[in-house]
Amino acid sequence: MKTGTKNRACVGKKRNKDRAAAEAQIEREVTRGTSRDRLIIYRCDHCGHWHVGHVGKRLARKQASESARGRRR
Ligand SMILES: [Zn+2]
Repeated sequence: MKTGTKNRACVGKKRNKDRAAAEAQIEREVTRGTSRDRLIIYRCDHCGHWHVGHVGKRLARKQASESARGRRR
């Protein structure tokens, strides 16, 4: 059985080998005018790479609190 999540999460997105590479991609998107609040980094279960996703305002707020937690080591 095939699921529809693979294409949505993976196809058409740039594959970054690690989180730092994904953050570099965000920097490029921000310089092109995308709001940083709307960009999220997530590790893809399908290809194992890191993708940068675009989210709406509501999701962006949720992600902001999650990434703030994640930055702490
Ligand atoms: Zn992927």
